[in-house]
Amino acid sequence: MTSDATRFRAALAGKLPEMLALIERLVNIDSGSYCTAGVNQVGAVLAAELERTGFTVERHPMRECGDQIVGRKRMGGKGRLLILGHADTVWPEGTVRDWPYAASGGFATGPGVGDMKGGLVMAIFALRELLAAGFDGLESISFFIVPDEELGSIHSRPRIEDAAREADWVLVLEPGRPGGGVVTARGAVGAFFMHAHGQTAHCATNYRKGASAVRELAIKVPLLEALSEPDRNVVVNVGVFHGGAARQVIPGEAKIDIDVRARTAEQAAALLAK
Ligand SMILES: [Zn+2]
Repeated sequence: MTSDATRFRAALAGKLPEMLALIERLVNIDSGSYCTAGVNQVGAVLAAELERTGFTVERHPMRECGDQIVGRKRMGGKGRLLILGHADTVWPEGTVRDWPYAASGGFATGPGVGDMKGGLVMAIFALRELLAAGFDGLESISFFIVPDEELGSIHSRPRIEDAAREADWVLVLEPGRPGGGVVTARGAVGAFFMHAHGQTAHCATNYRKGASAVRELAIKVPLLEALSEPDRNVVVNVGVFHGGAARQVIPGEAKIDIDVRARTAEQAAALLAK
């Protein structure tokens, strides 16, 4: 006898070209968290796919980022499932131009192909197969796509918490780990932005009047990163460093973006205090 899993796997294998075409379409839209138009374009494509799958879709406009997409499907069974995903990526505007979707040798590449446009497409196709086969075993399925996950879901957090409270189970569409591992817990994440204001001056004619904002922040980079304890999963990473305007001018402005990770809330609080 063929198990359900084997049957669905075979059905989905036949859909691979269609799935890859949709992944390609999504990956080739720049949708970094700050590309609001692109995030909304990705959201619109996914909303249409969810509607095609039988979901009722709502769009919640956000002031500070792209829109949230919420699909709902009522059924006749028991248990409420929430499927959680995000439309944004970490890649800035213009990335697609230099690094568009490509597939060869069994691998697909491009900005957000794994995290998580591939996951979104797989979930929609899996649901479509289940529903087409008459699956009715749950009370409801909610499919929530947030626009700001890569910023820490700062604007979407209240609605995620509400949706999670209403659900019995949550499946998150983040990519797997090597060996097929599934992530079942995440630690704390923080984002910090440090600006330095110095005094610009021409470095040849007015050297003594200048005060370098770049130098001030450069001194802080190793001090900040020394707070990392990688063996305890505590990480402080200066991921962006901007400063200065011209080679011969003492830089009056500089800024760094700092990412912070910790395993527990206690570690995060200790790190914040430091
Ligand atoms: Zn992700």
